[in-house]
Amino acid sequence: MRKVGANDILVIGAGVIGAAIARELSARGASVSILDARTPGSGATQASGGMLAPYTEAGEGGPLLELGARSLGLFDRFIGQLQQDAGIPVGYERTGTLHVAREDASLAHFAETAGELGQLGIEAQLLDTAAARAAEPNLAPDIFGGLLITTQGIVAAPSLTRALVMAAQRAGATLLEPARVQRIRAEGDGVRVDTTQGSIAAGTVVLAAGAWAGQVTVEGADAAPPVKPVRGQLLHLGWTAQQLARITWDERCYLVPWRDGTLLVGATVEDAGFDERNTVGGVRQLFEAVCDLLPLAWNATLLSARVGLRPGSPDPLPIIGWSSAVPRLMYATGHYRNGVLLAPLTAQVVADAVLDGTADPALALTSPARFGRL
Ligand SMILES: Cc1cc2nc3c(=O)[nH]c(=O)nc-3n(C[C@H](O)[C@H](O)[C@H](O)COP(=O)(O)OP(=O)(O)OC[C@H]3O[C@@H](n4cnc5c(N)ncnc54)[C@H](O)[C@@H]3O)c2cc1C
Repeated sequence: MRKVGANDILVIGAGVIGAAIARELSARGASVSILDARTPGSGATQASGGMLAPYTEAGEGGPLLELGARSLGLFDRFIGQLQQDAGIPVGYERTGTLHVAREDASLAHFAETAGELGQLGIEAQLLDTAAARAAEPNLAPDIFGGLLITTQGIVAAPSLTRALVMAAQRAGATLLEPARVQRIRAEGDGVRVDTTQGSIAAGTVVLAAGAWAGQVTVEGADAAPPVKPVRGQLLHLGWTAQQLARITWDERCYLVPWRDGTLLVGATVEDAGFDERNTVGGVRQLFEAVCDLLPLAWNATLLSARVGLRPGSPDPLPIIGWSSAVPRLMYATGHYRNGVLLAPLTAQVVADAVLDGTADPALALTSPARFGRL
């Protein structure tokens, strides 16, 4: 295994979170190594719908909305700079989102949400039947209204992660040979990391191992970070009919349209341990939901069925911050349904803490210490 310099920063995990952190640290001049047990991006990230939708995901407001809205605000610049640094395109668009109502209760709830978002200065429009049909003419005939939120968007999570790793490498970061990290402990002023391929000493370690973060033993910690895998299955369809104009949601599924004529259909939410396989039941649930919302989907082709393990945290806020047990260990995990959305903000606050010793206010919300001595 390649030697990592004693003062270097080792990022464990090259999903969207680890890749964004590695890129931010190396762009700011740090010496960074990236270690993953598998090919970068092949954890939860490759299955992601890539929706940037804080006003939907954190409908009830609170800290998750605060973090999500902040991160969404970073995206235009983040993607623009990344495409330059990596030299490859990243699919990204602020399509807006349409939530469709198929019963009275949903429309009443949408009216409340539109009012609340309006008070926050977020543009949200309540649509009647005619307006909802005009917005997306191919939807099922029983749609009788909707909520349009114009600022939300999509990013292609696999190409985003590829670009982040490439930009980090161009800025000098090293992608180490694949190895699984088993144990992390303090050693002198730094950190020692035991892996399946040998042991590494580093100055600082960032643990961004997604749903598997709790499987790594951190010496001196009272408990593992309480990250739980939450399986999500998603379909990738080839679409020849007129493409949807924006992300479209009903109670049973969401649809993410891409300009290349493909459509993502997500997603199941399942407690299946660490089992990363698609199931007949999961795929069937999504087929039925998409055909019910968008009848033309019967003619679509199935390009792939994807599956990933979301890193669920109990709050469900992410777990980002310094370890109490190993002083130069930083956690960045537990992003659950919003890891892609929260990647730019996570990278920024981690780099500020690691390189400048500053504590962004976001860290007060995400501190690992809320779960004990981790
Ligand atoms: C179906 C589905 C749809 C989703 N849709 C959205 C969405 O629309 N918008 C959104 O923002 N988010 C979405 N998410 C959530 C998002 O994908 C995750 O929050 C995000 O990918 C988490 O990124 P991560 O880097 O923390 O984890 P991962 O992508 O899982 O990466 C973790 C990496 O760590 C590596 N690793 C683990 N353990 C070790 C170890 N011991 N040693 C070395 N390496 C290790 C793994 O191999 C993996 O590559 C979705 C998730 C799923 C499953």
